[in-house]
Amino acid sequence: MRKYLAFLTICLAVISVAAAQPKQKTLLAIFAHPDDENMIGPVLAKYARLGHNVYVIIATDGKDGTRVTKIPAGDSLGRLRQQETICACQKLEINPPIYLQIDRLDTKHGVRPYLNGRKKAMAEVKRYIEKLKPDVLLTFGPDGEYGHSEHIVTGALVTEVLLKEGWVDKYPLYFPVDIQEDVMDNDDLSYIDKKYINLKVVFSDEDGQKMIEAAKCYVTQFTPEEISELVETASKNKSNTKYFRKFVVTNKTQAEFWD
Ligand SMILES: [Zn+2]
Repeated sequence: MRKYLAFLTICLAVISVAAAQPKQKTLLAIFAHPDDENMIGPVLAKYARLGHNVYVIIATDGKDGTRVTKIPAGDSLGRLRQQETICACQKLEINPPIYLQIDRLDTKHGVRPYLNGRKKAMAEVKRYIEKLKPDVLLTFGPDGEYGHSEHIVTGALVTEVLLKEGWVDKYPLYFPVDIQEDVMDNDDLSYIDKKYINLKVVFSDEDGQKMIEAAKCYVTQFTPEEISELVETASKNKSNTKYFRKFVVTNKTQAEFWD
C-alpha cells in the first residue's frame, strides 16, 4: 500500500509539472529584408528564451541595400547581408533565418519581374506556413513600418495568403505597430491610434540587450554612430514594450453596407 501511495505521489507530481509548463509554441515572422526582424528583436529573443520555436523568413536577399557600405549592389552584397542575418539570429538565440531568395518585391526592374517575384513569395510563404504550422504569424501592417514599398508588399502578400486559404483564424497574424508618443519628430516611423492595439509584449533587459548585439551584426546597414544612437534610445525607453495589432476578419454576411 505504501509503495502504491509513493507511486501515486510521483505520478501526480509529474502531471502537475507538465501542466505548469505551457505548451511550446511556434512563432513565424515574415519580413522583406535582412535586418527587418530586429524591429521586434527583443520580442523574438523573449519567446526563444522561454523555450518556444522562433523562425524568421526573409523574402528578398537585400542585394540592392548598399546603405552604409561601399560594396556595390549585387550578389556579393546579398550574400554578405544573409550572413549578417545568420549572425543576428544567433545573437537573438532564435532559429537560423529562412531565405526566399526573391530579387525584389517592387517594380524597380519592371512590373513583370515584380509580379513573378510576388507570386513566388506567396507560394513559398504558403509552403512554410503549412510546414511549420505557426501558432503566431508576424509581418508588416499596411504602414510597412515607415512606408517602404517592399515592406508593404511583404505584409500584404502574407495577409493575402491567409485570406485566400481561409487561414485567418487558423494562423493568428499580428502586425508590429508604434504609438505616436514613441515616434520621434525627426523619423518617419508610422504609428496607429492606441485604441487599435491588441497586444503589449513586455520583454526583459536581457532581451533588449540581445537586440542591440544583433544590430551590431549589420555592418553594411548601420554606422557605429547609428548603433550608439540605438543603444541610447533603448536605454532611455524604460517601458521594454512592443505593441501589436491583430489581423481580424468578421465572417458575418450582411444585406446592406449600413446593416
Ligand atoms: Zn527593410
